[in-house]
Parts: sequence; C-alpha cells; structure tokens
Amino acid sequence: MKIDEAREVRTTCPYCGVGCGVLAKVAANGEVTVRGDPDHPANFGRLCSKGSALAETIDLDGRLLYPEIHGSRTDWDEALDLVASTFSRTIAEHGRDAVAFYVSGQLLTEDYYVANKLMKGFIGSANIDTNSRLCMASSVAGHRRAFGSDTVPGSYEDLELADLIVLVGSNLAWCHPVLYQRIAAAREKRPDMKVVLVDPRRTMTSDIADMHLAIAADGDVALFTGLLAHLGQHNALDRAYITAHTTGFGQALFAASALDLAGIAAATGLGEDELVRFYSLFAATANTVTVYSQGVNQSSSGTDKVNAIINCHLATGRIGKSGAGPFSVTGQPNAMGGREVGGLANMLAAHMEIENPEHRDRVQRFWSAPTVAEKPGLKAVEMFQAVADGRIKALWIMATNPVDSMPDADAVEAAIKACPFVVVSDVLAKTDTVRHAHVRLPAAAWGEKDGSVTNSERRISRQRAFLATPGEARADWWIIAEVAKRMGFDEAFSHPSPADIFAEHAALSAFENDGARDFDIGAYAGVDEEGYEALVPFQWPAPSPGGTIGRQPIRFFANGSFYTPDGRAKFIAIRPTAQTRTSSDYPLVLNTGRVRDHWHTMTRTGKSPRLSQHLAEPFAEIHPADAQHFGIGDADIVSVSTEHGEVLLRALVTMRQRPGSVFVPMHWTDQFSARARVDALVAPITDPISGQPASKNVAARVERF
Ligand code: SF4
Repeated sequence: MKIDEAREVRTTCPYCGVGCGVLAKVAANGEVTVRGDPDHPANFGRLCSKGSALAETIDLDGRLLYPEIHGSRTDWDEALDLVASTFSRTIAEHGRDAVAFYVSGQLLTEDYYVANKLMKGFIGSANIDTNSRLCMASSVAGHRRAFGSDTVPGSYEDLELADLIVLVGSNLAWCHPVLYQRIAAAREKRPDMKVVLVDPRRTMTSDIADMHLAIAADGDVALFTGLLAHLGQHNALDRAYITAHTTGFGQALFAASALDLAGIAAATGLGEDELVRFYSLFAATANTVTVYSQGVNQSSSGTDKVNAIINCHLATGRIGKSGAGPFSVTGQPNAMGGREVGGLANMLAAHMEIENPEHRDRVQRFWSAPTVAEKPGLKAVEMFQAVADGRIKALWIMATNPVDSMPDADAVEAAIKACPFVVVSDVLAKTDTVRHAHVRLPAAAWGEKDGSVTNSERRISRQRAFLATPGEARADWWIIAEVAKRMGFDEAFSHPSPADIFAEHAALSAFENDGARDFDIGAYAGVDEEGYEALVPFQWPAPSPGGTIGRQPIRFFANGSFYTPDGRAKFIAIRPTAQTRTSSDYPLVLNTGRVRDHWHTMTRTGKSPRLSQHLAEPFAEIHPADAQHFGIGDADIVSVSTEHGEVLLRALVTMRQRPGSVFVPMHWTDQFSARARVDALVAPITDPISGQPASKNVAARVERF
C-alpha cells in the first residue's frame, strides 16, 4: 500500500469546490493521516470535517478491483476490446450521436481532457456531458452572456476584503466550510464587515449574517431586478463605468423596473422594509461581493438569476476590483477543470465555443483529429431521455452515480437498464448505477491517482498519489486512452502520463490564442514530469513564465475589457418573475440540498462513522405550522411525494424552515436508508439556456406514514 513512508505528500481534497490543500502521510504500519496544507492559498492549513476525515474513507471495502463483463471477472484486454468494438460498431451502424459519455466533476482534469478529446475530436459527437451540469451550468451560461467568456472574475481574498458579502442560495457554512471560516475570521478582524444571507432556510450560515432574507423559492430574479431598479432610482449607479465598459443598460433597467416595490415583495415573499434595508445597504457599500451557489444555479431561471446578479455589479462598476464582484462557488472539486477542457456538451476544449467554426477548426488542427463535433451535444437530462427513447445505444458513465443523483431518478434507472450497452468506470463495485453496467471498469481512487483540479477561484492544484493502486484498478485517463487506441486512434492517445496530458492541455489553451480567450495556461505547455511533480497551486490565466505566475490574487476585468466581440460587458434585460409550481395535490415546495458531513451519494463519506454521527439518517424539515396543518409530529415517519416518486423520512419540525416548504437532503440512497432517494422526486425541469435541473423548487406533498 505504501509509496513513501517518510514523506508527506501534497495533494488536494476531493470534495467541494473550495479546493483545500491536504498533506497526506502513510506511517510504517500503513496508517494514513491527513492535515491541512498550511501553504495552500485556498485553506492555509484549515480543513473541514469532511476533509479531516479523509483517512477514514480510503479502505478497500466495496472496491471494484478487477474488470468485469456481465458481472464476471475478466482481464483488461478483453474488457477494453469489448468497449471499443461495441462503441465502434454502434457508431458505424447508427451514427456518432448514438453513443454518449456521462462524466463527472470528480474526474481529474487530465481524465476529463482525454474523454472530451475522444468524443468531440475523434468520435465527432458532442454527446459528452457531466454531473457538473447539475452544479454550475447556469453560472457558465450567465458568465458567457455577460462577459463573452466563462470567467469567475475574483479570488477568495476578495471575500476577506469586502465590506459587504451577499450570500445567495448558499449554505456556505456546510457546503464550502473553509471559505465560510475565512469569511468568519475576516469578520472578526473587521467587525464592520456585513453579511446578508438570501436563502429560504435559516441555515448555519445565518450565524454570521447581519440580515437573513428568507426568500420564496425562485424569488431571486425578482430580488435582483428590484435591486437594479432601486440603484437606478437612488442615483447609486456608476454611470461612467456603464458608459465606458458595457452595453444594454437601458433595456436591462427598463425590464427590471416592471414591478414596483410591492410587486417585488409579493414575488419574493419578503417584506418591503426588508427589501429597502438590503437595497440601501448594497447601494451604499462599494466593496460588495455577491457569492452564489446552487440555490441560484439549480433553477429553471438559473441563468437569468446569475445575470440579474451580474447586472447589479456592472451597474455599480463593482467588478474586477479588490473586494468587489460577482462570485460563483462551484459544488464539486473539479467542476471548473471540466469547464476548462470542454467537459460540457455545449463547449469545446480550452473554453472555445462549439458554435464557432474558427474554434472548431483550431481544435481539430491542434489535435490532428479526423473530425470535430459540429453542434452542441445532449445535456445531462436530455442525454438520459435519449437513452430512454433509444437514440443513444451505447453509454459510458464515469465516476458518477446518476441512478441516485439525476432528477427523475427512477426514469433514469429504467433508461440505463434498457440501454443495449452500458459501461461504468468507478471506484466501487456496487453503487446503484454500477449494478446495471454490462462492463465494469475499476478506477483508481483519491490517494491512488495523479492529476490536477481547479477550484472556484480558478486555482489549479495537483492531486498526488500516496497509495499504491489496489487490484487492477487504473487511472481514468489511461482507461479512456486505451479504448481510444482500440478504436483506431493510437497516435493521438499515446499519452505516457498525466504530465504529458496536462502539457498538451496547456499548449491547446495557448494555441493561436494571443490573449483572445480567457483561459490560458500556456506557461505550462512544455512542462515535463519533474515540473509537473513540482507544480505549485496557481491561478489562471498564466500565459507565460514571466507573466502572471505566482502573482496572487489575479482579477479579471480590472481594465474594464471583456471577451465579447466589442470588448464590453453585456447587461441582460430580465423581467422579474415568480415560479409557482405548487397545486392543491402538491401544496409544498420541495428543496433538496447538502448536509455538513456527507458528500453526494455517500459512497465515500458513508464509510466514516464519525461523519455519519452528525446526522445519522435522512429527514424532512418542515415548518411547525405546516406540521400542524398536516397532522405531523416531530420525529414521525412521513411520506414525501411528488408526481415522480415517493420517499419515507423522519420529520424534523423546525422554525428554520420557511412555511409552505420542505427540505430533504440529497445524500441518502436506498443502500443507506430504505426509500430515501430524493432525486426520484425531482421533476426533470431545466433552465432553458443552461440545461441545469431545477432541484430546489419541486411541488410536493408530505403525509404522516
Ligand atoms: Fe474539502 Fe471543501 Fe472541506 Fe476544503 S472545505 S476540506 S475542499 S470539503
């Protein structure tokens, strides 16, 4: 098991998008210990409960250690040959769009790069999408509409420098704990710093909030269009910035003014006095950062929410400045890395655009590829619908568990069961998805593989191996490249190591770029094994060795220049809306989300007794008034149902919950608690622009069981 007993290995936490540095050590008796890396600029030595329990989750219980075909052990050659020949035959018989990859924000950038290269450049389809679609696709779409690029403008340091932090749809205390700790520490040093929390629930994050706006589900568009109108009415605009650096302000302000204050109050469920206090605070505080997460992104109006927030920052010139800017925090460890290499079905590698013929030509020439995808592929929800109706006949799922995590999860499971050929590469042998695979490929886990990840502030860090790979498990990039070679693409996929892939990825970012695109890590184009091993965490852009490397923090748009064709940021005209889905049959709003000590479908954190102590079972949080109305007592077993399914949970009656709503955590699967897969309840409704599912506003009913 041991690689080097004497040395602590610098690596990165595999959980949330904060991207904390971890020092891992293997003792002579094989015992693994972890601690926070004091030198990593994301966490400076801090770790949350999940990160500090990593050593408890790396045993081999339940691991998939050997390739399997139809549940029987086989060798790699036979398994890879079968995958390659079946994909090739399916493409020959039914066309290139009859195959698909569904990948994951848990993959390392090098894995993602090779998967995307195979699908978009060599198979020639864009049918590769990722569970990051469920995480931050609305932010990507909003960034691209406003900035002409998918760019998070600021850095974590801006959260410490801000005088006002507005947290929207984010339980930062539980979902990005180290970032929350950084804000709490900054606030202790500067007690005048203010925090506003916009969230239907009163969560642990409200402990540091000066103001909690318990907004109605999907009231965010109304809240921020109302803010824009308020800024216009109260001379709080930066007219010089708007004139010099933006377009579309007049239309955006006109659309935002569709509702008066009473109308905004009705659409948000907030009081007019609360609205005015928040709007006045925002208007008066130049150093404002608006941090937003899944409550914004996971919505049928997610992209509009993102742009409504960005509009307010553009209108006040609060972007690209120290302590100011809109700031999307990603849920997953490498959601950002996936964006960089084109892991979304509607993007090309290196942040290039699939709809742009010049970009397609550039990527194809760089790869010397036989073809390149000519149109966007199917986004996650559409992809599984295409599996269900038979358009997709061969599916490869990597490092994710869609039978538990996709909306309308029962329908997704039925689609996967009926698909003629399903490959799953995973660490575990028995997830709800793996059991439906025709071919199971054992993947290396955290601690066993080498690569890189990018966190929410665009910082690229290495994940490094400190354990030997067990059984016949292999790195994901190796598995994908071996299939590609067997499909006839030997030369392009002859990567000897992740360092070689990273160097190619960096070279592509700089290829015919000349600063025209936001993502550029050209300084690393020639990195060798030694340089890759020694790589220290850095933010992009890093275009040249003498350029921005090591100068922290980096802020985009400081000069007021954007990546749109005219170089100006674009205001998006958005009308305030409210989205009511409840009915007499389903009178409550179901909101799904995370708890502090578990991660996704608990395949890793479920192994730690310590982490499971915090909240031992799934629950349904409901307001006392609703509990009384429906005859539910605290700790009763209740049925939560929607048009799509039903789960059984323990009721948690609490004032933290907004009346008319119910909260259920997303983590528990049928493996851990009978009938607890909450995503079986979530309707497959998506944002029309980003394709991100609306997992926080589902019409539901709660009854005593
Ligand atoms: Fe890991 Fe996120 Fe916790 Fe940091 S905050 S230790 S990245 S889970």
